[in-house]
Amino acid sequence: MAINTGKYRRRLLDERDRIKQDILGRTELPPSFNDDGALDSADSSVREHSMDLEGSLMNMKSGRLEQINAALQRIERGDYGICVKCKKEIDPKRLDAEPTAMTCMDCLPAKEQSFSAPTM
Ligand SMILES: [Zn+2]
Repeated sequence: MAINTGKYRRRLLDERDRIKQDILGRTELPPSFNDDGALDSADSSVREHSMDLEGSLMNMKSGRLEQINAALQRIERGDYGICVKCKKEIDPKRLDAEPTAMTCMDCLPAKEQSFSAPTM
């Protein structure tokens, strides 16, 4: 066992807590949210649109949560850090950048590769 899973486990648990709190924080709107009470139809369509955005953000977050849970399961099972495709060890640098990675760089799907450099 060459991989220090404890380090990644902690990172995954941290991120999972953050996402859970984020989701919980969003499901309860602050009471002041509806206070202006003067929405015309144009405003409410804008509102629906931003609710959609919120919804897809939530989907993204719960998708991320699934990835994190899957990675944690792999740690429990002892196959964390092993590429699911070629069964070789994943480069620890890749795991540092993306603790939920399930494949090595060689087996990475092309679309995920272009996704791996967030520009924020
Ligand atoms: Zn591989």
